[in-house]
Amino acid sequence: MSLGEFDLIARWFTRPVRRAALGVGDDCALLQPTPGQQLAVSTDTLVEGRHFLSTIEPERLGHKALAVNLSDLAACGAAPLAFTFALTLPRVDEAFLEGLARGMFALADAHDIELVGGDTTGGPLAIGLTVFGEVPPGQALLRSGARPGDRLWVSHPVGGGLGDARLALEVFRGRLALPGEAFERVRARMECPTPRIALGLALRGVATSAIDLSDGLVGDIGHVLARSRVGATVDADALPASEVLAAQPADRRREFGLAGGDDYELLFSAPPAREREVQAAAAQAGCAVTRIGSIDAEPGLRLVDAQGRALRLHLSGYDHFRDA
Ligand code: ADP
Ligand code: MG
Repeated sequence: MSLGEFDLIARWFTRPVRRAALGVGDDCALLQPTPGQQLAVSTDTLVEGRHFLSTIEPERLGHKALAVNLSDLAACGAAPLAFTFALTLPRVDEAFLEGLARGMFALADAHDIELVGGDTTGGPLAIGLTVFGEVPPGQALLRSGARPGDRLWVSHPVGGGLGDARLALEVFRGRLALPGEAFERVRARMECPTPRIALGLALRGVATSAIDLSDGLVGDIGHVLARSRVGATVDADALPASEVLAAQPADRRREFGLAGGDDYELLFSAPPAREREVQAAAAQAGCAVTRIGSIDAEPGLRLVDAQGRALRLHLSGYDHFRDA
């Protein structure tokens, strides 16, 4: 007997809710936000071949789908509450659904959030999530708050950096080769990003602006500069890099760090006087932060090397309709 749409929902995606007033099973879910808090809402879709490769383990796919959505809440300094899940899949594949649900719920449990509803349809594999979080009024971290003189920071794993996901992607594309163990490390960065929720919360009242890095630093920083009406100078050689990326030629290291994409780290600005609080926030969140430049009054992004010399690199962020 083959499973239908409702059996599928009941079997893999229905769990009793603890925080929401009503979860999966009715026409709407009912959420109970903390009185006085603002609701933070964000949606991200993952399409096979674009956002993930068919080689990804279902469990990692479930993790990644929720992680990239939580990353948006992190960038806003919001505390996650709940999420909905729109699943389009070609056929009912039990092993796939079991793994997907396991990865998704493991990360949900780690953040004490729950799946409250969704939609299930047949079609080419795509996974869309909407996450709900909350933040006190006036305390959300926004793209628009960077001021000249602020320092620019990026988060990263202790001992790791930006650009690893891109390195893994190039190996999958057959354009680069890495030894097995190095490949597994960068592959985990590509397939299992860590949403910086704790850092976002700790940066409330400290950072003046924040964004999460999904399309590559040079593209994403442009959104901050435009919304804040400022410019920036970034030291390309200050970008944190893992041992694996650091072993690559300098041009590739710069390119993947600056424009690699799929990093899911936070890029944020803070006044120089808040440096200790920035470091304390990172320590509390269990990740590292590195200062990579500063915000200027003069519009535009200036890339420099460790000696402060201008770098002329032609890099841009990923754009689905230009780069596809
Ligand atoms: P409706 O037709 O009223 O939109 P559906 O029949 O699509 O409702 O879904 C039935 C219930 O199952 C709803 O509560 C919906 O939120 C939930 N649901 C559907 N798909 C998913 C999914 N992939 N994950 C979690 N909940 C789901
Ligand atoms: Mg309905």
